[in-house]
Amino acid sequence: MSENKIPYKIYLEESEMPKEWYNVRADMKNKPAPLLNPGTLQPMSEEELGTVFCKELVKQELDNDNPFIEIPQKILDFYKMYRPAPLVRAYCLEEKLKTPAKIYYKFEGNNTSGSHKLNSAIAQAYYAKEQGLKGVTTETGAGQWGTALSMACSYLELDCKVYMVKCSYEQKPFRREVMRTYGASVTPSPSEETEVGRKILAEHPGTTGSLGCAISEAVEVATHTEGYRYVLGSVLNQVLLHQSVIGMEAKIAMDKYGIKPDIIIGCAGGGSNLGGLISPFMGEKLRGEADYRFIAVEPASCPSLTRGVFAYDFCDTGMVCPLAKMYTLGSGFIPSANHAGGLRYHGMSSTLSQLYHDGYMEARSVEQTAVFEAAEQFARVEGILPAPESSHAIKAAIDEALKCKETGEEKTILFGLTGTGYFDMMAYEKFHDGAMTDYIPTDDDLKAGFDGIPRFPGNLE
Ligand SMILES: *Cc1c(COP(=O)(O)O)cnc(C)c1O
Repeated sequence: MSENKIPYKIYLEESEMPKEWYNVRADMKNKPAPLLNPGTLQPMSEEELGTVFCKELVKQELDNDNPFIEIPQKILDFYKMYRPAPLVRAYCLEEKLKTPAKIYYKFEGNNTSGSHKLNSAIAQAYYAKEQGLKGVTTETGAGQWGTALSMACSYLELDCKVYMVKCSYEQKPFRREVMRTYGASVTPSPSEETEVGRKILAEHPGTTGSLGCAISEAVEVATHTEGYRYVLGSVLNQVLLHQSVIGMEAKIAMDKYGIKPDIIIGCAGGGSNLGGLISPFMGEKLRGEADYRFIAVEPASCPSLTRGVFAYDFCDTGMVCPLAKMYTLGSGFIPSANHAGGLRYHGMSSTLSQLYHDGYMEARSVEQTAVFEAAEQFARVEGILPAPESSHAIKAAIDEALKCKETGEEKTILFGLTGTGYFDMMAYEKFHDGAMTDYIPTDDDLKAGFDGIPRFPGNLE
């Protein structure tokens, strides 16, 4: 098909939508390291994980072998309400940049949660319901995950308890109300409701909370309440599996038009959208069938891949969760207070960490003022107001397209546009007022986080 036939937006027919998730671990020679029990330092068994997570999700978490996992019909039906997500050819951005590069983005912001997170929320809620549970608990930072989960739970009539990082709870009252509209209960974290919350409050009075702390609270409530389990919106293998629907759709759409991306770019917080977007392409690379460049983009103020260490660490501040082997800044790391661009988790998905460690993926960090410049540039030509998180990928895509302008190369770039930024207008306001600053942590700042990583034989020793 000739170049000028490629439409601005490529949508799949319902019948072309993927019916299976792709599990990239099946094609990895070095599997991601297992979660460890922090007490015994032994791999978490199916049984142990089952006290925290839903049964079927534990199976998916531990499954390093099956490449394809069937998507249950009920989830497929739910996906059809807001999927397929469009694959957009960014003709307007290309023209503005005067680049010979061809830029595509996969837009995941077409649902009320405003992000890709709904793809995993509906799957996790579905398996909880199938198991006969009463409800689920979770944490949320900026609020997209909590919103996505409350939407999925209300659809399936499950109770949903969200622990929301206190500063977001106060700064984003509208997010909170969206969650309550969908029937979720929303508690600012740290709270007095949990033992770990009370402990953190006693140690750090006046703290405005962190994701790691909210996770500890949500896990405590799930494990102490009959009929409840904990669900997590990123980082875990199961979440990357569900998010593979992004990459599968993108690949089917690109194959349909004979498009092969040279570079695939995604922002990286816990790694779920990036992992999902690249999965089927990474599978080809791992099997030696095709080659792609993959670029993870993270904030310079929370640089887990580019400046973190590859080690077993706690997933949460309260140290109640299993240990995960990942690139980490230490579970005590909290990005500087001026950081407004999201992607503030201290660690990174074990699967992506392993792939990065083995040289299959690149990573770079970008400063937030440059991210918001890219966000604004994109909004003005492509019409979509991007989430700050997504704008990390936009920034890297623009940089790559500008490199093509210098060299004259007509590379094809695909990036993940994970969501919209309507609830991030305080951050945009700071940027517009010239009040946004960049803070790059010093080695000394990072050292404090690294010092909190558990030491045991084979881990940082
Ligand atoms: C949560 C979120 C991210 C980052 O999470 P990952 O798990 O790294 O994908 C990126 N973009 C948006 C819009 C989000 O809501």
